[in-house]
Amino acid sequence: MRKGLWFSPRTHLASNSCTSLCTAIEAGWPGGTLKQDRKYDVVVVGTGAAGLSAALKARLLGASVLVVDKGAVAGGTTAMSGGCIWAPRHHYQAQMGVTDSREAVLEYIREVSPDGWHNTEEPLWSAFVDSVPEMLLFLEEATPLKFTPNREPDPYSEAPGGLTFGRNVSAAPLRIGILGRWRDKVRPASFDIRLNYEEMVDTFFYANPKKWAFRYGPRLAWRHLMNMRTKGNALSIGLLKGCLDNGIDIWLETPAQRLIQKEGATVGLEVERAGEAVSIHAAKGVILASGGFEWNLEMMAEHFPWPVEWTASPPTNTGDGQRMAEAVGARLDKMDQALVMGTSPITYEGQLQGLPAADYFLPHSMIVNRYGKRFVNEKQMNVGLAFTEKDPATGEPLHLPAWRIYDHQFSVKYPHAMPKNALPGNRFEADTLEKLAQQIDVDATGLIETARNFSDFARTGVDEDFGRGSTVWDRNRGGDPDHKPNPTLGTIEQPPFYAMPFKASFLSTKGGARTNEFAEVLDRDDRIIPGLYAAGNVMANSFGSKGVGAGTTLGPCLTWGYIAGLNAASR
Ligand SMILES: Cc1cc2nc3c(=O)[nH]c(=O)nc-3n(C[C@H](O)[C@H](O)[C@H](O)COP(=O)(O)OP(=O)(O)OC[C@H]3O[C@@H](n4cnc5c(N)ncnc54)[C@H](O)[C@@H]3O)c2cc1C
Repeated sequence: MRKGLWFSPRTHLASNSCTSLCTAIEAGWPGGTLKQDRKYDVVVVGTGAAGLSAALKARLLGASVLVVDKGAVAGGTTAMSGGCIWAPRHHYQAQMGVTDSREAVLEYIREVSPDGWHNTEEPLWSAFVDSVPEMLLFLEEATPLKFTPNREPDPYSEAPGGLTFGRNVSAAPLRIGILGRWRDKVRPASFDIRLNYEEMVDTFFYANPKKWAFRYGPRLAWRHLMNMRTKGNALSIGLLKGCLDNGIDIWLETPAQRLIQKEGATVGLEVERAGEAVSIHAAKGVILASGGFEWNLEMMAEHFPWPVEWTASPPTNTGDGQRMAEAVGARLDKMDQALVMGTSPITYEGQLQGLPAADYFLPHSMIVNRYGKRFVNEKQMNVGLAFTEKDPATGEPLHLPAWRIYDHQFSVKYPHAMPKNALPGNRFEADTLEKLAQQIDVDATGLIETARNFSDFARTGVDEDFGRGSTVWDRNRGGDPDHKPNPTLGTIEQPPFYAMPFKASFLSTKGGARTNEFAEVLDRDDRIIPGLYAAGNVMANSFGSKGVGAGTTLGPCLTWGYIAGLNAASR
């Protein structure tokens, strides 16, 4: 780490140095001399995991900090999320009896990352692995957050350095009331079920929610009574509370518009506040943490030229940070990387969005393309990777449109996971696979043959085509532990048969400003742009689409925020 200055969160902090009007903006200030001009040490764009982690770290190093967010509520995608954090070497590993090491984590990352990535990403991997443990401890000290470990395996735990469990944590439930008048300013979760991440994933909740709902009844009732939130929402509440308690200024409904440059360095930020342009002087730096560009149609068409539907993040994530960074000469990288999952349609803030779904992990379900063929191990970590494959003849996405296929057994065992009828085109039903194929415009011969092969695999428990259920990840996550011989494979042979679309649904893009291991943004010649930092999904993600663990977006978001805050404040 470049700068190691540490102040205890309990150290008395001077109040934010210039939260009132700053009249004395120095001569030559390129942001103009509007009377609204403000001055802070560090200005952060975005109130997600990356932004608030950055703000806290900078503030507790003594910097005055302003965070702006264009949303009317704080929290970004983070507040909507499952809240699982990949945090190798976290401080709960000892109590779990897990042995881990820096070398093992790095070996694992090198093994499972795409070919050639080590050439550019190695310094970032090291910085991430070195900083995660202190970042997590720091957040527990500086905020009301407490983390609880869960038993998620590494998705490639068979690889050298991989673990069958022990590298994941999530935030323990928190009362939203601790935020006082900010209680209504947190972005709602995508799906308000008040169970922890581990209460859902470690128990295979989705295979038998009735059983668990009964067992969890009292704690669910208590959490509702106390208005406690869980998962990503709890994470956001804790981060926000830490920021407010430590005197960080947060302005909502304040879109950042452009970076203010002076002699090649970033010295401030122009924002729009209550309809007026306000320029803010950032003495030590601006940290971009404005998330992905899922909702920017132009950028999506350029980098993901296939039909994209049921986007799962907040509509405020429109790639503004990437655009602002590029405008001051930053190099954008990894723009074709993203977290793409199977989702179910939900109505969120009045519009159609996606909610990560687990139906296609369960037995008696499979995913096929328009040829009626499977094309992916449905249980693999980032199933969306499969959508990038193109038809060499036409250049069209080979596997879109794609369909989930289920049979009668699925509908009896997992009625809660059946596609809902409410949305037109969301559920098809037929008494033969041939008729189902006709309804969804899929090759019938292909579908019948695929279902036959799939059913044979289910009987032997061995998926000869894609190895579904053959790894620790496949068997220990999702699936139905009561189903034998393979907890994720069940025959598809009993009518009626059902189909539901499988959309390319984005949880987050992962491309953006290229940074070094200090979270400093680099220009097109790989030179540092002084005063400009990026963290979270606005930066070029060093793990990419494939990911290395459940939580390999939130883990890096929090950690790169921490690193950016540390280095900006120490400038
Ligand atoms: C339903 C769901 C579940 C998920 N579950 C997990 C999980 O369990 N584990 C995991 O690792 N990942 C998960 N993810 C992904 C993860 O939530 C995101 O990758 C992560 O939260 C991104 O954090 P961030 O800080 O980079 O951005 P965000 O949390 O998206 O925050 C960005 C913020 O920047 C603001 N902003 C944008 N433009 C501007 C501007 N011009 N001016 C001011 N503010 C601006 C936005 O309004 C937003 O509030 C999930 C995603 C979804 C949708």
